[in-house]
Amino acid sequence: MNGQDNGDAARRVYDVIAKHHSARLPAPHLDDYRRVCAEFSWEQARGMLSGLPGGGLNIAHEAVDRHATGARAERVALRWLGRTGLRRTLTYRELRDDTNRFANALRALGVQPGERVFVLAGRVLELYVAVLGAFKAGAVVCPLFSAFGPEPLATRMSLGDARVLVTTQTLYARKVGALRERLPGLRHVILLGEDNAPSRVAGTHDWATLLADQSSDFDIVPTSADTLALLHFTSGTTGQPKGALHAHGAVLTHHVTGHYVLDLHDEDVFWCTADPGWVTGMSYGIIAPLSNGVTNVVVEAEFDAQSWYGVLQDEAVSVWYTAPTAIRMMMKLGREALAAYRMPRLRFMASVGEPLNPEAVVWGMEAFGMPFHDNWWQTETGGIMIGNFAAQDVKPGSMGRPIPGVEAAIVKRTADGALEIVTMPGVEGELALKRGWPSLMRDYLNEHARYEKCFAGEWYLSGDLARRDADGYFWFVGRADDVIKSAGHLIGPFEVESALMEHPAVAEAGVIGKPDPMAGEVVKAFVALKAGFEASEELRKQLLGHARNRLGAAVAPREIAFRDNLPKTRSGKIMRRLLRARELGLPEGDLSTLESDER
Ligand code: ATP
Ligand code: MG
Repeated sequence: MNGQDNGDAARRVYDVIAKHHSARLPAPHLDDYRRVCAEFSWEQARGMLSGLPGGGLNIAHEAVDRHATGARAERVALRWLGRTGLRRTLTYRELRDDTNRFANALRALGVQPGERVFVLAGRVLELYVAVLGAFKAGAVVCPLFSAFGPEPLATRMSLGDARVLVTTQTLYARKVGALRERLPGLRHVILLGEDNAPSRVAGTHDWATLLADQSSDFDIVPTSADTLALLHFTSGTTGQPKGALHAHGAVLTHHVTGHYVLDLHDEDVFWCTADPGWVTGMSYGIIAPLSNGVTNVVVEAEFDAQSWYGVLQDEAVSVWYTAPTAIRMMMKLGREALAAYRMPRLRFMASVGEPLNPEAVVWGMEAFGMPFHDNWWQTETGGIMIGNFAAQDVKPGSMGRPIPGVEAAIVKRTADGALEIVTMPGVEGELALKRGWPSLMRDYLNEHARYEKCFAGEWYLSGDLARRDADGYFWFVGRADDVIKSAGHLIGPFEVESALMEHPAVAEAGVIGKPDPMAGEVVKAFVALKAGFEASEELRKQLLGHARNRLGAAVAPREIAFRDNLPKTRSGKIMRRLLRARELGLPEGDLSTLESDER
C-alpha cells in the first residue's frame, strides 16, 4: 500500500549513476544478487578475514593490525575533523601503535580479559583508540552516548558492571564524578585532558601520561569468535533499553556488509554520521570501514547541513552512511542549500535507523543524483540484515532484500504458539531471520529469559512488522508495539507518516493509535512543518484531505496536531510511545534516551 511495491518505481539507478560517473565507478561487489547469495557461505566468507596469528579471532586485529603490516600500513585509517577546524589523521600503522599502547595500559592497570571498559566521549580520536585497544586486551567494550545525563550513565555502568571508564575531563566533572560512590566496581577512570594539558583530578588517570610509558608492541589476547567483545544498549525507542551482548565473531558480519552492502572498495573515503555511542557508530563508524581497509572520516561537530555538505565535498567522501532524521532535516532546507557544492566522488549513499520515506529516496535522486539506499538492522542483529544494494534496483520505501548469508521471512505466531511462515507476497507479519549469521547477539545482559523469547526454533523474531513483495523486497510496516488496530484494519504508522510527508508543508510526522469506542483505535498524527509554513485550521483540513485521498478513510488520520518538533531518541528515532503516552495521559516510562522534550 505504499504504492511502490508493484515494481513500477524500481529503477536501474546504478546504470544512471554509472553513466554520470563515467570511468570512476568501481565494479560493484554485489553485481548479481542471486548468484552471490547462492554462492555465499559464512564459512567461506571467513576467508575475507585474517584471524589471529596464533589462531582465534579479534576485531582489532581485523580492523587494524592486519593492515598495519601490509600494503595499507601508511594509508590514513582515521581522518578526524575537529569542531574548531583542527584536523588529525592516524595511519593504520599509527593506529596499531596507539591501540597497542592503550592495551598495555589496561594490562598495567590489572584489567582482566572479559572485564568491561566503558567509553564516554564525543567523536574524538582517543575514543577510537580506546575501543580498539580494549578489544586487543580482551575486554568487553560498552559505548555510552556523551549527551546522556548522570542517571542513564549510572544505570548503564552499574548494570554493565563497568570496571574502567574512559571519558573526558569535562564530562567527568559534569556528570560522572558525583556518581563514583554508587559505582564501587568502577576501579579506573581514565581522563582525556583538554588543550593538550594533562588532567589532574583525584582518583583518575590521565590518558596521555598513562600511555606515554607504554610500549607500542602488544600481543593481542587470544580471543575467539565466541569471546564477548561488545555490550550495546538498545535505543530505548519502545521501552527500557536492553543490553545486547556481542562476540568478536561479529566482525565477520561487519566486514561482509561493509563489502556487499556499503560496497566499500580499497580507495574509498567513507563517512558514517552515527555517533559511536550507538551500535551504528560502533559497527559502521569504526569496525566495518577499518576492517575493509578504507579511510574513515570522523566528524566531531553535530549535524549542520551546510557543514555536512562541506565535508562531503572537501573530504571527497565516496560512500556515505547516514540516517532518515538527518535526511529529513536536509529536505527541510531544500535543494538550494546544496547548489554551491560539488561532490564528484560521492557514489553511494545509505541510510539506517528508522523507516526511510519514499519521498526521501526520491529527494536523494533529485538533490544528489543518486538515491539513499535504505537498510534495516537492529542492535540485536549486530549488523545490516536487509538492504538495498549499489547495483540493484531501488524501490523507494522498501528496506531492500536480505544480505547474502541471511534468510528472512514473514511469520505469524499461531494460537497454539507455533510459527507459521507466510509465503504469500504482500501479507503483513513479523519479520524473522533464520539463525546462523555471526553477529546475532549472544544474550541480553541480565535478562536471559527475555533473550530466549526472541527465538522460535531456528528463527530470530525481530519484533518489527513487515511484508515481502513478489520480488523478494521487504517493506517495513511498523514496530509490533506501534501498529494501530482500527475497525478491523491493521495500520502501520510508517505508511500514514509517508503519505503525510508527501505534502509539501510536512517535515516530519509521527502517528499513533488513540482508543475509540467504535473503531477500537483511530489514527492520530503529529506533524512538524517545514520552514515557511504556518499551522492553521485550513492546513489541518488540507492535510486531512490529502491523507484521505492517499490512504482512504479507513487508514487516514482522524486527527492531526501540529508540533514544533517530535520527541526523538538521541539517535534520532521518533518515540511514538511517548506521543501516545502524552496524548492519553499515561506514564511516560523510561526517558533516558529522549533527546528533545518539546511538546
Ligand atoms: P528499543 O529496542 O530499546 O526500543 P530500538 O529498537 O529503536 O530501541 P535499535 O536496535 O537501535 O533500538 O533500533 C532497531 C530498530 O530500528 C528496528 O527494530 C526497527 O524498528 C528500526 N529500524 C532500523 N532500521 C530501519 C529501517 N531501515 N526501516 C525501518 N525501521 C528501521
Ligand atoms: Mg528494538
